[in-house]
Amino acid sequence: MSEELQALSAADAAAAIAKGDLGRGELFEHYRARAASDELNAFTWVAESMPDSVDGPLGGVPIAVKDLFCTEGIPSQAGSKILAGYCPPYTATAVANLEAAGAPILGKTNQDEFAMGSSNENSAYGPVQNPWDRSRVPGGSSGGSAAAVAAGLAPWALGTDTGGSIRQPAALCGIVGLKPTYGAVSRYGMIAFASSLDSAGPLTRNVTDAALFYRHLVGRDSADATSVSFPEPIALPTSERLDGITLAVPAALVDGDGIEAGVRDSFEAALESARGLGATVVSCEIPSAPYALSAYYVIAPAEASSNLARFDGVRYGLRVDATNLDAMYTETRHDGFGDEVKRRILIGTYALSSGYYDAYYGRAQRVRTVVASELSAIFQTADFIVTPTSPTVAFGLGERTADPLAMYLSDLFTIPMSLAGTPAISIPSGLSDGLPVGLQICGPAFSENRILGAAHALERAIGFDGSSAWSAL
Ligand code: GLN
Repeated sequence: MSEELQALSAADAAAAIAKGDLGRGELFEHYRARAASDELNAFTWVAESMPDSVDGPLGGVPIAVKDLFCTEGIPSQAGSKILAGYCPPYTATAVANLEAAGAPILGKTNQDEFAMGSSNENSAYGPVQNPWDRSRVPGGSSGGSAAAVAAGLAPWALGTDTGGSIRQPAALCGIVGLKPTYGAVSRYGMIAFASSLDSAGPLTRNVTDAALFYRHLVGRDSADATSVSFPEPIALPTSERLDGITLAVPAALVDGDGIEAGVRDSFEAALESARGLGATVVSCEIPSAPYALSAYYVIAPAEASSNLARFDGVRYGLRVDATNLDAMYTETRHDGFGDEVKRRILIGTYALSSGYYDAYYGRAQRVRTVVASELSAIFQTADFIVTPTSPTVAFGLGERTADPLAMYLSDLFTIPMSLAGTPAISIPSGLSDGLPVGLQICGPAFSENRILGAAHALERAIGFDGSSAWSAL
C-alpha cells in the first residue's frame, strides 16, 4: 500500500487534491484496490472505476455507503435476502448531496438486515469482522461502514443511526461516528426502519473529517417532509480547550451493572482529560433512562412492522412463486426475512394491535416524551451529556446471537438520545485490552457545531491512534 496516501485523513486528501499534489484518480484507485481485496466482509459491492465527472469541495475523496441507502443502478440490499440484487431507480438525497459535493461512491457496505442489530451478524450477506480482532464483531448495524473506515479500506463512510447504529460500531472499531439531530439530514431514499428515529451520518477517522462530511450532508429536502434546514453552516472545528464547558455524567446509568471495568476506566480517563482542558464535570440523573431501552424496543419495531409491509414480493427483490397471491406474500416474506426482522415484525404488530396499543405503544410514547424532557432539563445547566458509547468493547462473533436481550443492551447509552432526537458523537477514548472504547458526547438539538468542537478538543487531548487497524488485512 502507498503509506503516505493511506496516512492522509479525508480532509487532508481533499486539501492535497485541491492543491494539485494528489490526483483524484490515484486516490480513488488506492481505496478501490483496498476495498476490492476486503477480507472483513465489510463491502457488499465495490465500484469498478471512478465516475467521469467528479467535482466539488470534497475534491474526489470517495465514500463508502451503507447498503440501506438507495443508489441508482447499484445494488441496495439493506442486508436482506428479500432485496437481493435490487437496484433502485433513484439515489437517496444524502448520497446525492455527497456526490454533488464531489465524493464518488467507492462501494456499498454490509449491515444488519434493515439496520436491526448491534453486531452486523443479522446480515443475509454474512457477518463483518472487526479489524482490531477478527474474531470479534464490528458492532452494528453500520458494521461494514465502521470496519471499512477503521481498516483503512475507505477514507470515510455514510451510516445510519436509529438507536445507536452509527455510534456503537464507531466505538467498537475505534473511529468517529456522528448521529445528527433528527431531521437535519434527509431520509429520502434511506430504506426505512423506524421513521421517527432514523438518521444518517458520517463514520470517519477523525472529528474534522466528520465535520467536513456532515457539512455536505445536511439540508432541507422537499422529498422528506420531516427534514429541516440546519440553522447555521457546519464549521470545521478548531477548539483545543473546554474552558467554561460543563459536562454532565448520568451517574446512575454509568455506574450501573453490565459496564466493563476497562470501559469505565477509559471513560474516567476521558473525563480527566476534559478537566485538564478546563471543563467542569458534574453528575446528573436521567430517571427515565432505565425505561428508555424498553420504550425503544416497542416504538422501533412498531414502526418497522408498518414500514416493512411493502416487501411483499410484488414490487421489489425476491418473489417466491406460490399457488395464490396470499401464499406468495407469505412464502416470500418467510424466505426473504431473517429471524431478527421477523421478531421485530411480530413484536411491532402485537404492540400496535387493538387492545394492546395503549398498553405498549402508547406507554412507550409517553416514556419517549419524558426522556426528551429530562434531557432538555439537563441542557438548561450543562453543555453536554457524556457517557461511554457502549457498555462493552467489541464482543466475540457468535457470543450474543442466541440472546437478543444481551444484544439489545449494547444500546443502553445511545438510545435516550435517539428517542429525544438529539445529536451525539462517539469518539475513541482509548483501548481496553487492545480493543477500542468510545466516548459519547450529546448536546441539545442542532448543537452539532458545539459537539464537534468539544469532540475535537478532546480528540487532541486523548491522542488516539487507530492506524494499527489498517494492516489487519
Ligand atoms: N441496535 C439497535 C437495534 O437493533 C439500533 C439499530 C440502529 O440504530 N439501526 O434496533
